[in-house]
Amino acid sequence: MISVEQALEEILGYVKVLEPEEKPILECLGQVLAEDIHSSIDVPPLDNSAMDGYAVRAADTQGANTSAPRILRVIGEVAAGSISEQEVSPGTAIRIMTGAPLPPGADGVVRFEDSDEVSRRAASSAPLSQIGICCQVPPGLNIRRAGEDIAKGGLVLSRGILLRPPEIGVLASLGRGVVSVTRRPVVAVLATGDELVDIHEPLAPGKIYNSNTYTLAAQVMACGAIPKVLGIAPDKVEALKDRIHRGLESDLLVTSGGVSLGDYDMVKDVLAEEGEIAFWTVRMKPGKPLAFGAFRADGGARRVPHLGFPGNPVSSMTTFELFARPAILKMMGRKDLSRSTVPAIMEGQIENRDGRRVFSRVVLSKRHGQYFARLAGPQGSGVLTSMARANALAIVPEDVAQVREGDEVQVMMLGWGQEEI
Ligand code: AMP
Ligand code: MG
Repeated sequence: MISVEQALEEILGYVKVLEPEEKPILECLGQVLAEDIHSSIDVPPLDNSAMDGYAVRAADTQGANTSAPRILRVIGEVAAGSISEQEVSPGTAIRIMTGAPLPPGADGVVRFEDSDEVSRRAASSAPLSQIGICCQVPPGLNIRRAGEDIAKGGLVLSRGILLRPPEIGVLASLGRGVVSVTRRPVVAVLATGDELVDIHEPLAPGKIYNSNTYTLAAQVMACGAIPKVLGIAPDKVEALKDRIHRGLESDLLVTSGGVSLGDYDMVKDVLAEEGEIAFWTVRMKPGKPLAFGAFRADGGARRVPHLGFPGNPVSSMTTFELFARPAILKMMGRKDLSRSTVPAIMEGQIENRDGRRVFSRVVLSKRHGQYFARLAGPQGSGVLTSMARANALAIVPEDVAQVREGDEVQVMMLGWGQEEI
């Protein structure tokens, strides 16, 4: 039986970062950039106004204030998206909207609020021919400079970064519609067990619904990968092999069930026959019978890594979280593979009877700057609703037999219900 660290190290040592693909930017959310992005333009392309107001020459506003406004002649108007042909010469102003390029001659913008426009409009409905400027404008006021966001030629986004909404927006602001990103892995998901019935079928006596396929496929999606659902394999070697073969075009195969010591637990036997088992059983609870290995594919030319999770729904979810998620993130080129862990005060008690690392479902909350963890409900490895209630896993080390009320524990945050990319 190996430790959680050894298991993870072995898995991460085996899986490789996938190759890049070119894709439209909106399909790249949560993927890792596989090229450096340089800008071929300035953003914004021209000096432009940060306010609705009047483009002026700063020198013309010398000494202006509310009681002694400077009167300038209004020679035109410029809206966002168009270029003013006119020049602001001494004694003149051009009415300007936010985002409109600054007209030649102007070196500052006065907000409407700092002009007497409102009172002039109240007095006459005719287009304004003059405007009173009520403040002194330092050169550059309310001007956004060309290239102030992105300078032409510069490195804007580096290979290896994660594409989140702001990066997608930065790419769009450069006019980049397609970029190179590390490919999303396809993860085949297979449930095993004669007791399983798909959710579309009636529940016959002695059967249970197959929930693992759905939780695992959802976990695959939450990592940003693509699930390939292989359905349910019965506990018969030939049928199991047949299903597994259908999953071997994928980048990773995950199975649930069939890795314990029972008579019908034949997943690891098939793995041993059609590939290699790297390890089987990890010193943890839930999730001890976890198999990892690789299936031979394409007549032995290729290997497909396989994680064989125990069938109990919480065991399969927890082992996915601890081992499949980092493996998938690595394949996607991500650097940060682990969940955040914080120290928390335990509210309740956890027993650890047989020296394994225990992962208990907890509800983590923060009060007065301190984290607290309370058990999310019954901790049986079949009780999935307590996993649904939990937002974190409290980690009890192998050599700690009991965590008591008030003890400090390390807690791994799961992030479900929060934005997850
Ligand atoms: P196993 O690891 O195959 O011995 O399965 C252990 C237990 O997990 C089974 O007795 C079922 O109660 C449960 N189980 C196995 N597979 C699934 C599944 N796909 N969905 C829900 N529960 C399952
Ligand atoms: Mg089974």
